Amino acid sequence: MTEVQLQEFKLDPDSELRFEVESKNEKVVLEVKSGYAELFGTELVKGKPYEFHTGAKVAVFTWHGCTIELRGKTEVSYVAKETPMIVYLNVHAALEQQRVAAEQENTRGPVTMIVGPADVGKSTLSRILLNYAVRMGRRPIYVDLDVGQGQISVPGTIGALLVERPASIEEGFSQQAPLVYHFGHTSPSDNIELYNTIVSRLAEVITEKCETNKKAASSGVIINTCGWIKNAGYKVLTHAAQAFEVDVILVLDNERLYNELKRDMPKFVKVVYLPKSGGVVERSGTQRAEARDARIREYFYGKRTPYYPHSFDVKFSDLKIYKVGAPSLPDSCMPLGMRAEDALTRLVAVWGGRALQHRLLAVSFAAEPDDHVLHSNLAGFVCVTAVDMERQTLTVLSPQPRPLPNTILLLSELQYMDNH
Ligand code: ADP
Repeated sequence: MTEVQLQEFKLDPDSELRFEVESKNEKVVLEVKSGYAELFGTELVKGKPYEFHTGAKVAVFTWHGCTIELRGKTEVSYVAKETPMIVYLNVHAALEQQRVAAEQENTRGPVTMIVGPADVGKSTLSRILLNYAVRMGRRPIYVDLDVGQGQISVPGTIGALLVERPASIEEGFSQQAPLVYHFGHTSPSDNIELYNTIVSRLAEVITEKCETNKKAASSGVIINTCGWIKNAGYKVLTHAAQAFEVDVILVLDNERLYNELKRDMPKFVKVVYLPKSGGVVERSGTQRAEARDARIREYFYGKRTPYYPHSFDVKFSDLKIYKVGAPSLPDSCMPLGMRAEDALTRLVAVWGGRALQHRLLAVSFAAEPDDHVLHSNLAGFVCVTAVDMERQTLTVLSPQPRPLPNTILLLSELQYMDNH
C-alpha cells in the first residue's frame, strides 16, 4: 500500500507552483490553504479541493502570495519565481484598452491570434487571456484552429465558443453550443485545401455572429493555432490571419516566425514577440496521442461530471457516410474549369465495412451530400465500436439516444477504442 503524500508550499508574490501527474491512475488533490492563487487565469477557491489526474501539467500562480497543499503522488513539483505572467498581464491590459475603445465606438474588439511552435504554451496563453477578459465582464470568442489537440469538441476539428465564464479548473471552458467544423485529420498538412476552406467558413460565421452580438463583438476573439509554422504551415497561418482579419498576432518563443510575420503582415497588424514560460512541458508523440485519446474519452464520458453515452446498432443501408477528399489528379486530367485541388474538398461515399471499426463519424447538420456539407457545422460525433458484416450493421457510441439523425456522416481519420 502506498501512503498518500502530503506536500505544502509557501509561495511568494509573483511565483508559481508547477507540478505534473504522470503515473497511471494517479490522482493529486490541490487546496489553497491561505492567500490567493489562480490556475491559468481562473481563480481558485480557498479551502476547496481540486483534483488532477494522469497527464496533468499544472501551474498555480499567485500575484499576492499563498500557501498550497498537494495530496497524492506528483512526478515533479517545484516553485518557480521566474514566470512571464507579468508580460501576459500587460498583453491583457493592452487588449482591454482596445475593448474599451471598441465598446465606445461600437466597433469590433481586438482579434488576436496566438502562434508558435508546438509546446510553447499557446493553448495555455489563450486560456489565460480569455479568463482575464471574462473576469473583466467581457464575452470573448475562443477559436481553436489546432486540429491536433481539439480543445473544443474532439481532435480533427476546428471550432469556436462564446466564453461567458472563466474556465473550470478541472473541466476547462464550458462547451455549450460550440460551433464545430469537420477536418478529420490531426495536422493541416493532411489536406491544406480543406483546412483553409473550413477556416474561412468559421471566420465568416463568427463575423456574422458578431453583427448580432455587440457584447461579443467588442470583446474580440482569441485564436489558438497549430504548432506547424514552417513552409506550408506558415502559409496556413497567414491564411488564417487574413480570414479572421486579425489585429494582433502574439508570437511565442520563435524569432524567425516573428520576423517573417513582421515582414509579411500588413502594417495595421500588430505582431508581438512573447517569451514562453519555463514551465511549459514538451510532450512526446505518445503523450500527444494519449492526450487526443483522453479528449475523445471526455467527449463521450465527461470529465468530472460524468456523461452516459448510448450504444445502439444501425444498418449499413440506413447510413450516408462520406469522406472528404478524392484522390487528386493532375490538372490536365480534370474536367474543364476544375482545379486539381477541388478534388480535395469533394465528398466521396464510403460503404459500411470493417474499416469503420473504432472510427469517429462526425454528424453533420447537412441533410444532402452537396456543397453545403463542408460549410455546415457539426451536431456532434459518434464512434463506431463494432462492425457486424453478417448482419450488415454498425454499433455506435453516441451522446444522443437512437436513432441517428437522418443526416450526412463524415468519416474522421481519428480512432477511439472504447474500453470504458
Ligand atoms: P501548446 O498549445 O503550445 O502546444 P500548451 O499550452 O498545450 O502548449 O502547453 C503544453 C503543456 O504545458 C500543457 O500540458 C500545459 O498544461 C503545460 N503548461 C503550460 N504552462 C505551464 C506552466 N507555467 N507550468 C507548468 N506546466 C505548464
